[in-house]
Amino acid sequence: MAIGILKIKRKGKMTFWERIYIPEILRGIAITSCHFFINLLGFIPHILFNNERKIFTLYYPEERVKYPDAYRGRPVLVLGDNGVEKCVACGLCEKMCPALCISIQPGETKLSKERYPEGFTIDQARCIVCGFCEEVCPKEAILMSQDIEIANYNRKEILYKKEDLLVPEKDLRMRQGFVRGAFARWKY
Ligand code: SF4
Ligand code: SF4
Repeated sequence: MAIGILKIKRKGKMTFWERIYIPEILRGIAITSCHFFINLLGFIPHILFNNERKIFTLYYPEERVKYPDAYRGRPVLVLGDNGVEKCVACGLCEKMCPALCISIQPGETKLSKERYPEGFTIDQARCIVCGFCEEVCPKEAILMSQDIEIANYNRKEILYKKEDLLVPEKDLRMRQGFVRGAFARWKY
């Protein structure tokens, strides 16, 4: 098998002005100052009139980024409006997951869906947020949320059980709409 070699072209020689160094220092100071004053000007209306700031810096965690609907955070299970999880424990997501981080224990139920996940765990430490589980699910029962705050010192604490995964459907409507728009057209 042929292995391609990636050649990186570096600029061979510095120009005279780069070699005397001072113009480059002045250029760096000019760029930094420009950013400083743009940010400062963005603050003034906010301080004086409490307007929305026009600069991007956010005061996390008090302020949060509004992610686009296409953004993939940790996968969660949809708790239907009727108070029952939508998952029917078919196992497709478990089979599809490339990181092998989903584990399902199916059980029988008297509800019309007949099967439900008695146990459902996602090892978030292994999950690569690829979204394949969401794509393959025939029931829109697993969706990628906008929750990205999964950092933890203990891997066992991000081994999410069913109770940790369930999120009410009403809180996932935007993602649900995105998924319908994105995948419905493929007609698998
Ligand atoms: S997002 Fe990808 S890696 Fe994570 S649980 Fe779903 S299929 Fe597995
Ligand atoms: S989440 Fe969807 S794909 Fe996974 S077991 Fe439940 S119904 Fe099947």
